[in-house]
Amino acid sequence: MTRTHPAPDHDVVRLDSVRKIYGGSKKHQVAALDSVSIGFGRGSFTAVMGPSGSGKSTFLHCAAGLDRPTSGTVLLDGVDLTPLKERELTKLRRERVGFIFQAFNLLPALNVVDNITLPLKLAGRRPGKALVNEVIERVGLADRRGNRPGELSGGQQQRVAIARALVTRPAVVFGDEPTGALDTYTAREVLLLLREAVEWSGQTIVMVTHDPIAAAHADRVLFLADGKLVSALEHPTADEVAERMTHLGAWGHESTTSRAGRGAHR
Ligand code: ADP
Ligand code: MG
Repeated sequence: MTRTHPAPDHDVVRLDSVRKIYGGSKKHQVAALDSVSIGFGRGSFTAVMGPSGSGKSTFLHCAAGLDRPTSGTVLLDGVDLTPLKERELTKLRRERVGFIFQAFNLLPALNVVDNITLPLKLAGRRPGKALVNEVIERVGLADRRGNRPGELSGGQQQRVAIARALVTRPAVVFGDEPTGALDTYTAREVLLLLREAVEWSGQTIVMVTHDPIAAAHADRVLFLADGKLVSALEHPTADEVAERMTHLGAWGHESTTSRAGRGAHR
């Protein structure tokens, strides 16, 4: 794998004036992202929040090279994504990006070890036994190597997905609501595991979430509204995050009190 020069400011991911416009005719155009400029330093853990439709998924997809901005640039691990062809983007994602989704996205016919090592194989790399063992130990699945996803709990399946995301030693891991399908206790386990990856191996993580408790595990929380980055909090409590979301009108109706209430327990 060719290592290119890091970004001048050592950001692992950097977006500059990124805009993403959906819809063809002028009348129906939506600016899903509007002049977004932000950097993610190595070993940082960032949560991205915002009301529904504020551009969180679009942000993640553009930052990860899954989607192309209408204008502006994305630099990932020192590589400008703008001129890359689809094949080159796919290769770069396989080699340098890890993904964790709400729905786990494991292959049901493969056991734990084969699910975890699949990205390495897709990237044409031979899974080193020591590395694979280390990652499996780290996510606490040593006694589950031979099991298929259907034989595991939701939390265990998400830990397989985390191991799969970490095993390529990616420059950055992107999570799209990684705890969205989990109960509070299991979600906390998964968040602590992500936190450990940051502490132990300097993993860079960018995670979209709508849960203030999840966001409070990050070093920094970014808030999107109408496609714009409108504010940020460093090391916030869940209460502070919930309050900021309330100001953005994020919760809409009855969920306001329950979320603020959940936040109060942290
Ligand atoms: P979030 O993830 O915060 O809910 P999204 O990034 O999914 O927000 O969407 C941001 C805005 O862009 C919304 O107004 C949404 O309707 C619009 N949008 C997203 N994807 C598309 C698409 N493929 N075509 C048209 N509009 C889209
Ligand atoms: Mg979304």
